[in-house]
This record gives sequence, structure tokens and C-alpha cells, in this order.
Amino acid sequence: MEAMFADDTLLLGVKSWANVRALRVVLVLFEAMSGLKVNFNKSMNFYWGGWFGKHISKKVGDGSDTFFWTDPWTAETPLCERFGRLFDLAETKSATMAEMFALGWGDGGEAWADSSDRWLWQPGPATGYSVRGAYHLLTSQDFVTLDDATGLIWHTQVPLKVSIFAWRLLRDRLPTKTNLVSRDILSPEAHHCVSGCGIVESTQHLFLSCSTFGSLWSLVSSWIDSTLVDSQTLPDHFMQFTSSAGVSRARRSFMQLIWLACVWVVWHERNQRLFRGSANSVHHMLDKIKFFSFRWLKTTNNTLTLNYHCWWSSPLVCLNFV
Ligand SMILES: [Zn+2]
Repeated sequence: MEAMFADDTLLLGVKSWANVRALRVVLVLFEAMSGLKVNFNKSMNFYWGGWFGKHISKKVGDGSDTFFWTDPWTAETPLCERFGRLFDLAETKSATMAEMFALGWGDGGEAWADSSDRWLWQPGPATGYSVRGAYHLLTSQDFVTLDDATGLIWHTQVPLKVSIFAWRLLRDRLPTKTNLVSRDILSPEAHHCVSGCGIVESTQHLFLSCSTFGSLWSLVSSWIDSTLVDSQTLPDHFMQFTSSAGVSRARRSFMQLIWLACVWVVWHERNQRLFRGSANSVHHMLDKIKFFSFRWLKTTNNTLTLNYHCWWSSPLVCLNFV
């Protein structure tokens, strides 16, 4: 029932805080999935990235609340966009429909004489805007599926701080040396990977292609008996890795958790080397991955009878995957 456009929130129909709260949940989900920023402030104004505006149009009533040029009342695009040159010349840029009609635009008037103007939710003009409809729209569109990897960072058995870390990682927002140099925080000469491999430390290098840190993936693959993934970007790598052990939900969930443990351990090892000057071997890093994944699974599932020794050598047997 809530309609929002540009910088403002319009509440149409029955006011309901339950609806507003539910909408907020959808927006948080939307933000997480799409990476687009939705700003909330205390007075519940929402600032839209554009998807909502694309799905509403104006139903003209008496024309007093519809801008002739800038509201999309005739088609999907407002007249100022469709007839840009005419709009440039117009002296009536902010005129409403009613004013334009009074100036002689249009003949008749019956069409908009009997009701006030209102916004239409195009995906469901008859039923109106609903949280369910918006959620369905958001989850079925390309701009969400483009970023499927982001959906994988949330895992019920992985600590929230790890998911948030992964969220930053997939968006390349970690303070890697490349990122610090580009923000003038670090001098360009100091951009080398902490492993001593001689290459510039970018996110892609650190987590995938580094001869030291990147070699962790092959150790992990042989531990969990999966095929090695060769994607060159982190979102792709996450997606491929997750699906590389089969399509069953349990297996995908397991692979998700292992991937998150890997990147978490790599980042901590990198920081350890950079700020404390101590270095663990890649085999030690694999041990940490085994330890973290075991602990995450155990603490979130009391009934899981995992034997650590079994987990150490063959996690798939432990989880009855083989
Ligand atoms: Zn390196």
C-alpha cells in the first residue's frame, strides 16, 4: 500500500505500520542483494535507486496533482524526456495537468474531472503495491541475479561478522593495498603483496592468484574432494565453488561455508603478516579452515555429532555426503 517516488514516501490507502515495517525488511534484503544503497532516516523517507520509479505511473484524476511535463502520466516516460526539445522551450515546465488543461491543452475534461490523481503500481495496477509483489519483482529481475554471489554470503551457520566481511570482499571494499593506493592512503611504492611474491596486492591477487595465498584453494579442494575452480573474479569463484560439489542443498550449503572460512582465514593471515610480522604456512591456514568450519557447524547445530578427527581427514564422510 505504500508508494514511494523519488525522494518522498507516499502512503496510499490504509496506513499500516506493519506494512511499513515489512517494507523495510524487503528494502534491507534488496540492499543486501542488489548492492544498491537505500537510505533510511528517522522520518521514514526512502531514497530510491530507481527500480521503484520504473514501476509506477500516474493515474490522472482531476489533474491538479500531476505535473504535465515531468510525471509519467501518458506512457512509461514523462513528456519532458520524450519531447525534450519541446520541454526546453516550454514556459510551463512545472505546470500541473489541471493548469495545462485550463490553458487549453486537451478538449473535454470528463476523463479527469471526477477523482483525485493517484500513483499506479504497474506490476499490479488492479491489486496495487504489495510487499510480496515488490519482493517477487526484486528477486526475479536481472540486476539481482547478476549478483547472485552476494546471496551466498548469508549462511545461518557462519558468524555475521564473516558474512559482512564477505560482502565487502565481493564489492572490493576491503583495505587491500591497491585500494589504499587508489585513495592516496598508501604510497604506490608500498603496494606489494605481503607474501613477498612481488606482485601488487589487489583483492583478486590476494584471494585467488597469489602463488602463496592462492595455493590454499588446491589444498582445500583435495581436503573436501572437490574440483579446482579456475574463475578469475571473486563473485564467479564463489558461485562456481559453491556449485562444484553437486546441486543438493546440503552440499551447496557446506561449500558456501567452506569458501567463507577460506577467505576469512586468508584475510586474517594477510593481516597477521602485515601487522604482526608473523607468518603461518599454507598448511597451517588449511588447519585453521578445518577448525573454523568445524566450530561454526558445531556451535549452530547441537545435534550434529561431528568427530573432529574424522572432520580433519574426511569431512564428507562426517556429513554423510559419501
Ligand atoms: Zn602474492
